[in-house]
Amino acid sequence: MTAIILLGPPGAGKGTVAEALVEKGITHVSTGNLLRDRVRLGTPLGLEAKKLMDQGRFVPDEVVVGMIRNLLQDSGKDTSFLFDGFPRTLVQAEKLDELILSLEGTLEAAILLECPDQAIIERLSGRRTCTKCGAVYHVKNNPALAGDLCDVDGCELEQRPDDHAETIKKRLQIYTEQTAPLIEYYKIRNLLHSIDATKSIGEVRSAALEKLGWVV
Ligand code: ADP
Ligand code: AMP
Repeated sequence: MTAIILLGPPGAGKGTVAEALVEKGITHVSTGNLLRDRVRLGTPLGLEAKKLMDQGRFVPDEVVVGMIRNLLQDSGKDTSFLFDGFPRTLVQAEKLDELILSLEGTLEAAILLECPDQAIIERLSGRRTCTKCGAVYHVKNNPALAGDLCDVDGCELEQRPDDHAETIKKRLQIYTEQTAPLIEYYKIRNLLHSIDATKSIGEVRSAALEKLGWVV
């Protein structure tokens, strides 16, 4: 297996970039989406996770690492993974290294989407997400063709409960404290590629493809 990590603050555009990279055959793994699936199913894990997610706090490392471990162990040897929103702490990054090593895989790159807080607040307050497939829109920057319905499957779009002003501030604070240290973690291993994520969706997607050498 091979892995690429999408790193960056909440709302920088990781999911939006992932939508373009998936077209190249990579398997998108968003821990946020996996957790929201469990919330929708009402599993015990989902109910516990929802309380933390709605407050903008992290779900415990062992829960998230457990989900990733199961997913990697159940996948074929030739799978290429794109991790979005994972790892988010140093413990998670170390556990991911161990898992990749145990599966004789390779971590190929960590793509950092750099975006200032002001742009993030604007992006997250206008974000709309498909309740079924998780496709991501923005009321101004990337609206769905049919207003409140998803272009992919016609299902309703919603505003995420954690995309409100107070929770956004909390998430940015936790990002700075717990996730930002991962930038150095990957930089010293020469795996880090930074992208200016304030550019348009098309430009950011092209920059990601270019950094990965996927553009001819
Ligand atoms: P993340 O996965 O990092 O939390 P998303 O991909 O969900 O971020 O994007 C957050 C919001 O910002 C969405 O509403 C999305 O449509 C919008 N967005 C993403 N990338 C850009 C961009 N380059 N320019 C403007 N808006 C963007
Ligand atoms: P996201 O969809 O990536 O914005 O994640 C939504 C929420 O899910 C986060 O604010 C956390 O509460 C939780 N979450 C997602 N991924 C992780 C992770 N790797 N570690 C801890 N919590 C996570």
